Amino acid sequence: MTTHYGNFGQGDYPVAARIWGHRLRTGQSWIEYLLEFLGVLAGFKYRFGQGLPDREEGDDYQIEYTIPQRLGLRRFVFYDEREKTRDSRDTRATAELRKRLRQLVVEPDGYEDTELLDQARALLRSFSAVEEDRSWYAKSLFPVHEEFLLWEASRKGSTLKEYRLSADNLPLAQLDQGIEFRVRNFFARGGEMYYLFISAGTETSPEVRSRISNRLQKLLTANNQALGHLARAIDAAWGDLIATSNGHIHGTLGWIPDPGCPLYQQFANDLDTFLDNDLDSLECLELLAHLICFHIIIYIYHRAHPASHSEGHSSGSCLEACRPDLLIDLLGEQDGGILRECSASLLREQDDRQLSQARELVMEWLRVRAAELRTGGDDLLEYLQNEVQQEFGVARTRTKHKLDNAVREISVSYGAGEQSYEKLIQEYGKVLFEALSSDFRRNFLAVHRKLGRAIGLVAPRKGSQIRFVLGNTLLKTLVMATLPRGGAPIRLGEFLKLLYHRYGIVIGPGEAHAAGLVERLRINEEYYSRNRDALRARMQRAGLLIQYSDATALVYRR
Ligand SMILES: [Zn+2]
Repeated sequence: MTTHYGNFGQGDYPVAARIWGHRLRTGQSWIEYLLEFLGVLAGFKYRFGQGLPDREEGDDYQIEYTIPQRLGLRRFVFYDEREKTRDSRDTRATAELRKRLRQLVVEPDGYEDTELLDQARALLRSFSAVEEDRSWYAKSLFPVHEEFLLWEASRKGSTLKEYRLSADNLPLAQLDQGIEFRVRNFFARGGEMYYLFISAGTETSPEVRSRISNRLQKLLTANNQALGHLARAIDAAWGDLIATSNGHIHGTLGWIPDPGCPLYQQFANDLDTFLDNDLDSLECLELLAHLICFHIIIYIYHRAHPASHSEGHSSGSCLEACRPDLLIDLLGEQDGGILRECSASLLREQDDRQLSQARELVMEWLRVRAAELRTGGDDLLEYLQNEVQQEFGVARTRTKHKLDNAVREISVSYGAGEQSYEKLIQEYGKVLFEALSSDFRRNFLAVHRKLGRAIGLVAPRKGSQIRFVLGNTLLKTLVMATLPRGGAPIRLGEFLKLLYHRYGIVIGPGEAHAAGLVERLRINEEYYSRNRDALRARMQRAGLLIQYSDATALVYRR
């Protein structure tokens, strides 16, 4: 039976959340996984293993993470006349904050330096991390310091475009009202999940846990302190104006399934090895974002594997049984696109696997519920419709409408004696999955492709023949996550084996054999050899490999 780590939710959750935890969502941009993870970690004072139920381990154990709202800073940096969702409250708040800041930077001769404010804003804005077509409260800064961490928010009723009343006479503290940070089932929680991965993966290794948290704390506090001071001063000015020490967001974690799964330990070990580096902080953060998204993709594939089941995750046999086949195409056009086509079909297979897991979950749920009632016909259908509502919350009118219509048809044909009980369950399962799968396709299924594209695991960015590749930044990240700092370089063949065992990455003929792809895809071994040669050349150019002789190429970590 599946066990859960974190706060397992009772109530209506999407299908994907029941398989992959709460929760991944297509809308989250790749860098937000990093931002959210660091936000949660900072909100737990850089300690892992917090926020779990039934674990009151002393007075300073935190059930909730606590993060400053930083609305002053956020408005200062992002709200301006080009704002997508203008609101008279935000216009006024920004004006009041700037007025206050002008007073604070007033020069000895009484001259107010507005240019200084504009320059400070331009400087902060240059660290903008998530812009897209978003409103100011959903934009983010690259976390070069913990003071830059902004938590995703939404403004209640922002679809009305603008607050209709004048905000001129509102007390300043009311200008922040209606901004929400914790709308259930609206926000993605990928970063929270990553916090749970690392917590679960270090339950039995306290040294690894403390090394990771110390290094991340240092990364967010020891560097770029002047920028941190600037951000804090701006935000504090708003706190002074509304006479609070600025609000805080209190958050509880969601959950991940099967805490004993050894994949979590592997992620923690990767992170531990990776963080032991002397990169400058910006590059370290960029590579860290790559590593996090790579891990999330591997996790999705792990649990989408047909052999994924709780017993395997708890016994540890899952690492081998659920290893994916990530055939990396390094040849492109060079071999006439043969390998590219194979890689593309394996990527498509990942979509099918995720859909089958979802379908299986829905059918299993249905069989259990139907067995509870042990009756057929309209009673059963009515009972199931209620249960569906409570379990999956299909309140959205279109889905509900579609489902209701389909159920009516089934009910009629069952009533006319055209269907057996078994058939009834099957038919109902079919229409139910169809109804639920539109949300699944829209909000979950594209996550792996979207993240894959962002980190250079999937190409092209637009267009067809979507396949697995390995971009240089990701390659460097993986070298740093697998080879310990200061360790001896290893042969390319060993490195490829390592990538296969840990992640299911297939490049050369050896791994293709091990994965059974030579037999399955029926393309000549020669293609895999050329693929490996192409990687060797790439790694050499990227400074990750030295070729000593025809037979010896060594991969090393700089
Ligand atoms: Zn597992």
